Amino acid sequence: MRLVFLGAPGAGKGTQADLLCEKKGWRHISTGELLRDAVKRGTPLGLRAKAAMDRGDLVADDIILGLIEETLDAIKDSGFVLDGFPRTLPQARGLDDMLDRKGKDLDRVVLLTASEEEVMERLAGRGRTDDTPETVRNRLKVYEEKTAPLVDYYEQKGILDRVNGMGDIPVIQERILAVL
Ligand code: AMP
Repeated sequence: MRLVFLGAPGAGKGTQADLLCEKKGWRHISTGELLRDAVKRGTPLGLRAKAAMDRGDLVADDIILGLIEETLDAIKDSGFVLDGFPRTLPQARGLDDMLDRKGKDLDRVVLLTASEEEVMERLAGRGRTDDTPETVRNRLKVYEEKTAPLVDYYEQKGILDRVNGMGDIPVIQERILAVL
C-alpha cells in the first residue's frame, strides 16, 4: 500500500503513521523528521531548510521533492505512509509524476481531522523547538493556505478518506484500519 496522511499540524499523523507502519511492515516517511535529522547533522540540505523551519514556513518545493525522490528510490518496492508530504499543490503534482515514472500510484489519502483546540493542546505538549506559540500559529495558517487545498485535489481523484482524529490513539488507529 502507498498512502498519504494529510491533516493539520498536531492532527496525529506521525503517531498514527508509526503505529500503522509497525503493524504492516511499511515505511514511515516523514519529511519533517528527515529535515530535522539533516539540520542536526548540519548537512547542506539542513542548512538550506533550517530558517524556514524555525519560522514555521514551508521549505522550498524543489528541495522537498528531491528529498522524497531519494527516499522513494531507497525503499524500492516497500509500502509506505507519507507523513507531512505533500504540503502544496506543486508537491502533490510532483509526487504523481514521480510515481507515474515508476509505474506506480497512490492507493489512498487519509485526512485526519481534529478540532483547533485539540490540535493546539497536542502541539503545546510536544516540546519541539518549532512548537512555540508564534511558530505554531504560523504553521496552522500555512496549513490552511497551502495544504488544505490538497483535500479537494485528492477528493477529485476519488482516493480521499476522512478519519476522525479525536480520541484515544488505539481507537483512531482502528478507524484508519477500517477505511483501508
Ligand atoms: P512537520 O514535522 O511535518 O511538522 O514539519 C516540520 C517543518 O518541516 C515544517 O514546519 C516545515 O518547515 C518543514 N517541512 C516538513 N515537511 C515539509 C514539506 N512537505 N514541504 C515543505 N516544508 C516541510
